[in-house]
Amino acid sequence: MTKTLAPIRLAVGGIIHETNTYAAEFAGMTPLSAFERYYGEDIAQAFTGSNHQVGGFIEGARRHGATLLHTFLGQATPSGTIEGAAYADMKQAILDGIRQALPLDGILLALHGAGVADDVEDIEGDLVAAVRALVGPAMPIAAVYDLHGNMTEQMQQACDLTLPCKLYPHTDFQERGIESVDLLLRMIRGSLKPVTYVRRLPMLPYIVTTNTGFVPADVNEVCRKLGQQGGVIDCSWFHGFPYADIAAPCPAVICTTDGDLALAKRCADEAAAWIWRHREDFRPGFPAPAAGVAQAMAADTGPIVINEYADNPGGGTPGDGTHLLRALLEARPASGTCCFASINDIAVVRQAVHAGVGNTIRVSLGGKMGRFQGEPIVADAYVKAITDGRFTNRAGSMFEGVHFDLGAMCRLVIQGVDVIVASRAEQIYDAEPFLLHGIDAARYKIIALKGANHFRAGFRTLAAKIITVDSEGLSTAAITSFPRERLAAKVWPLDDGAILGE
Ligand SMILES: [Zn+2]
Repeated sequence: MTKTLAPIRLAVGGIIHETNTYAAEFAGMTPLSAFERYYGEDIAQAFTGSNHQVGGFIEGARRHGATLLHTFLGQATPSGTIEGAAYADMKQAILDGIRQALPLDGILLALHGAGVADDVEDIEGDLVAAVRALVGPAMPIAAVYDLHGNMTEQMQQACDLTLPCKLYPHTDFQERGIESVDLLLRMIRGSLKPVTYVRRLPMLPYIVTTNTGFVPADVNEVCRKLGQQGGVIDCSWFHGFPYADIAAPCPAVICTTDGDLALAKRCADEAAAWIWRHREDFRPGFPAPAAGVAQAMAADTGPIVINEYADNPGGGTPGDGTHLLRALLEARPASGTCCFASINDIAVVRQAVHAGVGNTIRVSLGGKMGRFQGEPIVADAYVKAITDGRFTNRAGSMFEGVHFDLGAMCRLVIQGVDVIVASRAEQIYDAEPFLLHGIDAARYKIIALKGANHFRAGFRTLAAKIITVDSEGLSTAAITSFPRERLAAKVWPLDDGAILGE
């Protein structure tokens, strides 16, 4: 009796990093200092109300009157391979926090799924296995992932519930976090016995939005219909993250049912077969930056958003690529009609800060972090504004309500084009970084930005049209251009002999 009246105690922890192993060569390994690190109650402070997995855990617990014991959460902008000691430190913080929080009824983990440390290829699998070893086989564990995770056997085995977000842009993180609490509580109360089946796909698609009109939207619909059958708790798919040289940076379908493994297998197999049949729809075909800019200049509406796919800091790139910015400058748009955010170049930011607002500086901007980033742009630049780089994502955006601190930033005017320069790499989610620098993006003909798809949520009401451009770069859609030393099996489209198998 007393047991059922006592509040349910759930530990919360996580490590969120999407690792582009190819970026390490140019931008170095990712150290511990690159991670925002939250300990204990600081986690609640930072994420209450946010559209983040942990924001969902907090809201779910509030609805059910469950008590959350916050351990550690570390997250960083995607980047190169994590230093081994950095991962070990964060893993230990979670394990220590869980140990201190015992006794517990369950565990909630916020993970990415595509984290790689220099000595651990599958950090999520390693972490969940360690958590499982600590708490024993009976403790319910739920993990909420980014859909760009590379699902492994180890990840699946250790957790009772594995829930990737379903939308890209990932605007459903909070919803999935809430759902994970609901399901975990059903397990704790004995009314749910989840079993999962995972079906991996031997393919390397580029990363594509789930917005209507793109093939992942159709995959979601297939999964949704399968998920409506009685007994199915969840049918989802990981898109995979192809910018990692690991054994299987590939998509996977995961189905969870209430105790019916055969049903889970049937659903996962059916969705996987559908994706495999439609694999040709995952071949990219984007214009080069100059062609995309020409299309935008010729359009009679605006604003046109042009996104630079190949240097997407959200995919772990250095963010200092100059391919799109150069194409814009060479197209010579009318002064004040074109804005760009953001190029990562701390040296130029410091130069602007030193010169001060209202002065003109000679810059060598970007193109310093490796051979794929393009040549630096050498030009005179007027320093229009300098800011602290702090802003909060607006309603409707990916990571709505999440606070960003990109360090000192500046707005330069180069040949009449407004260019935002940042002190670190970050993709653009919405118009806030422009607004921070006094730019009303809605008034511009062309809004150019770095990103693959997340910006689609924040710009959906602003953009008259979106043009994606691709070039060489560490997140190019040309997935086949990356060297692969660790692939464990034949994969499409590298190898036409790849087979889905039984
Ligand atoms: Zn993602």
